[in-house]
Amino acid sequence: MNSSNSITLNVLGGGGEVGASCFHLVLDGYHVVLDSGTHPKKDGIEALPEFRLLHRAPDALLVSHAHVDHCGSVPYLVRQFPALRIHSTLPTVRIMDRMLHNSVSVMELLARERGILEYPLYSHDDVNYAMGGVRGHNFEETFPLVEGGPVEISFHHAGHVLGSASILLKAPGHTLFYTGDICETDQELMAGYSLLNNVHVDTLIIESTHGSTDNSHVRPYPQEALRLGHAIAEVLHQGGSVLIPSFALGRTQEMLNIVARLQEEGVIPEAPVFASGLGRAIYEIYNRFERYLHPDATLRPLDQFGRIGNVWERSVVRDLLAEPGIIIATSGMMLENTPSAMIAQEMVKRTHHGIFFVGYVDHETLGYRLLHSEPGELLEFSLGAPPVEVKLRNIQRFYFSAHAPRTSLRSVIERLHPKNVVFVHGDPPALAWMKEHTANGYRTHVPMVGQSVVLEA
Ligand SMILES: [Zn+2]
Ligand SMILES: [Zn+2]
Repeated sequence: MNSSNSITLNVLGGGGEVGASCFHLVLDGYHVVLDSGTHPKKDGIEALPEFRLLHRAPDALLVSHAHVDHCGSVPYLVRQFPALRIHSTLPTVRIMDRMLHNSVSVMELLARERGILEYPLYSHDDVNYAMGGVRGHNFEETFPLVEGGPVEISFHHAGHVLGSASILLKAPGHTLFYTGDICETDQELMAGYSLLNNVHVDTLIIESTHGSTDNSHVRPYPQEALRLGHAIAEVLHQGGSVLIPSFALGRTQEMLNIVARLQEEGVIPEAPVFASGLGRAIYEIYNRFERYLHPDATLRPLDQFGRIGNVWERSVVRDLLAEPGIIIATSGMMLENTPSAMIAQEMVKRTHHGIFFVGYVDHETLGYRLLHSEPGELLEFSLGAPPVEVKLRNIQRFYFSAHAPRTSLRSVIERLHPKNVVFVHGDPPALAWMKEHTANGYRTHVPMVGQSVVLEA
C-alpha cells in the first residue's frame, strides 16, 4: 500500500529511448497522462505508446508541446476514452491540430505506398473530435486537474518551440515537475526556458536528449548561424541553390528568419527563399502568437518567402533549381518521398549546389546516408524509383539544437533539488550518463517502457 504522499509512475512510452512520450501517473487517487506521442522510428501500431496498460479512463491528458513524439497518438487515445479532457498551452492547441491532420495525410500515403495496413491509425474526423476536447491555457495559469479537486496544474515556458511547456502538478502531498523538451539558450525566435522559482519539487521527470553529447565544443547558436550563412553565400556565388532540410515545427521558422536576417545584414546575397507547406502553415501560427516569442525577435511576414509547389513533379523541382535560391523543406532527416528528398534527388546530380542539415539526423535515415555518402554512390530518394548517383560533394551538417545540453540538464536538477529524478526521452547512453553524473542524495530512476516506479515525497 502506498502512502498518500506517493505517486505511481507507469511509463507507456519514452522510457529508455526517445520514443512515443507517454507517462501515466496516479497521484492522490487521480489518473493523469503526460503526453501521448508516436514513436518517430516505428510504423503502425508499434509506433503507439503501451495504451493497453491503462486500465481505466484517465482524469486528464496534459500535452507539453506539438511535436508528434509528444502528441501524435492523442486522437487514438481519445477514441479509446472519448470523454478524455486534454489540456495544453494556447499555441500548442493550434499547432497540434495542424500536426495531427498532417499525420493523417502522411499515414494515408504510407498505407498506399508501403502497404502498412494499420494506417491511418485515426482519421481527420478523429482529429476534429479529439481537438474538441482540448482546453488551451496561458503560461503560468493555474487550473484544477478536476473541477473542485485538490490537484493543481500549470504550464511553464520551456523554450523549445512555440507553445512548448514544462508541466507542474501540485497534489496535496507531492509536487511533480515534468520538463517536456527544454532549451535553455535563446534561439532566433524562441527565448530560453524560465525555470521555476521558489517552488519545492518532490519529483522531477526530465528529458535527456543530449545526455551523451559533450557540448563543450559546440558553437553558440548565433555563431553557428553565421557559419551557415557563409556556407550558403559560397554556394549562391557559384550559381547553385541551397537545400536546408528542416522539421516543420520549430526549425523551419527559425531557419527562415536566420536566412532573412543574414540577407538583411549582407552576409547572404539576395536570392529567393522558399518554404514547404506544413512549415508555412505553422509559420502562420507563430505569427498569430508572436507575443510568445523572444521580445527582441523579428518574425518576417510569411509572404516574403516563396512557395515550393508540387515537388513530386520533376519539372517543378527543375524550375525551382533553375536560378540560385535557398529552399527550406521538410522532412528534417530527409525521409524518402518527402519534399526535401524529392528536391535533393535532383540536386545531387550536379556539383554546384549545397545541402545543409541543421537538425538531428538519425543513422537509419536517407539524410544520414547522404551525409556519409561516397562520391558516385547510388541512393534511393523515392521508394520504388531507380537510385540516383550522388555527384554533389557539398553536403554538410550544422549544429542547431532546441534541447538543453547535458550541463544545463544537470543544473536544472541542482536548482530544483527534488527528491526523485526520473530520466526519460534519451538514448540508452544519454540516460546512463545523466544517471551516473547526478550527485548523490537524489533517488534516480531510468524506467523502461512498461515499468512502474513508486515515488515517495
Ligand atoms: Zn520536441
Ligand atoms: Zn521530444
